[in-house]
Amino acid sequence: MAIIKQYVNLPSGVTNIHGTTRTLKLRPNNIPNVGNGDRVEWWVEPGWATNTDEIYLSLTQRARMRNAETVIAASGSFENEVILPHVGGDRWVVKAAKKGDRPNSVSTDIFETWRKVYYTVFYVGNNSLNFFNALENDFKDAFKPGYIELQNTTKTASLTVVARVDGTIVRHPSVSFPFMGGPPNGVINLRPTGTGTLTNKPYNVALLVAPDIFSTSPQPRTELGTRAVIGSTVYHHLLYTEVGNPTAWITQGQIRWPGQPWTNVIPRFTLPTNTNHNAVVRWDLNAVPGLTNHLATAANTFDMRYTVVREHLIMGYSIGNFCLVRTRDGLTEVLQTFTHEVGHGVQQAVQKESRWDTNGASLSDEHNPRWHTDVYGGRGPHCWKNAVLGPGPPGLTSGQAYRYGGAGQLCTMFYRGDANVEPKGKFCVSHCEPRLKRVKLDTPAMNAKIWNYFG
Ligand SMILES: [Zn+2]
Ligand SMILES: [Zn+2]
Repeated sequence: MAIIKQYVNLPSGVTNIHGTTRTLKLRPNNIPNVGNGDRVEWWVEPGWATNTDEIYLSLTQRARMRNAETVIAASGSFENEVILPHVGGDRWVVKAAKKGDRPNSVSTDIFETWRKVYYTVFYVGNNSLNFFNALENDFKDAFKPGYIELQNTTKTASLTVVARVDGTIVRHPSVSFPFMGGPPNGVINLRPTGTGTLTNKPYNVALLVAPDIFSTSPQPRTELGTRAVIGSTVYHHLLYTEVGNPTAWITQGQIRWPGQPWTNVIPRFTLPTNTNHNAVVRWDLNAVPGLTNHLATAANTFDMRYTVVREHLIMGYSIGNFCLVRTRDGLTEVLQTFTHEVGHGVQQAVQKESRWDTNGASLSDEHNPRWHTDVYGGRGPHCWKNAVLGPGPPGLTSGQAYRYGGAGQLCTMFYRGDANVEPKGKFCVSHCEPRLKRVKLDTPAMNAKIWNYFG
């Protein structure tokens, strides 16, 4: 029997192979021993032994026929609908026979359930395009074990080519998607005009491939009642710098003393050292008019406030249907970032799933034993397969973070890049893969993920 791929997440009605329901028609002479006046009974049988356990499916989600029996329709055929589950990787065969004559049945081809997700690529420069093309097949292969078929719509050049994309997430009152109101060299401004509408929404993920990405955050400090005209401070991180803008790293530098308003002194600040772990900021206020006169009285002081700009390195992130990925890490790391971020886009990693008994009564939820979230590292839901807890970096409320456990490979849904993540960016076979097959990717589920941006 032939195998027919049925894309159960896509809306029915466009083509026979889209949707969970499919109309079937049999002429009387297709069914053994059947005449026009007979009743025909219909049923479904599993096409192989690895279908998803029906405990994960409510009664209305399980494979079945619309009608158990039919009489001949006005079309001259016996007609019925098969209803397939929303999961991927199920195989079902429909059988029909004259009522009471099941041993002499006729079978359809095998329906194999798949989910289709489209992806649209926006690339920043030809190197980014070539880079993406080099990993594209592996990218698609990573989702196949979850019976998710990724299909490219278009690949489009960004509006401008920049070496570094500002991925800073900025809240903006007029847009519902935070970074869309972002800075001048920010993500939204790379979208080519006139290409703002993604097709096949909400099943289309937009991928922006850029050479490098960063984000920034302000670091304000205040010193009250000081007399130090010359001073310095050290930051244990990189400050943001920009060619052609020598003060990009400092957005505020002001002093005041009684009788004087806040006065801009940014030109008195310098940045003699700026590396990933050591940024030195100095100031010399001797040349500020009136300050040394004011400080000539021993009890006098002044106030100072300044804000420097921290630069964060980003491998990539995803929000809703939008994924941003940089290419500077090399093919393996970028492939892992792609599958990880698109994995989030298709609702990985799963925390818990509903279950039902044979009669459709609700059972307790099943919790994914390898699921974790922010308190053990990362932002969002992740998978700790083959990881163990160890002392975490400052700021984690648990004080602990997951790290490689020394055996096997980490899942692509591990919370960060690591040398031990599965090199082809695949989902762990034991925990993520079966849940990827079971996750619901129909229209309401996709819309709930805000699968509707960057076009
Ligand atoms: Zn993540
Ligand atoms: Zn996993």
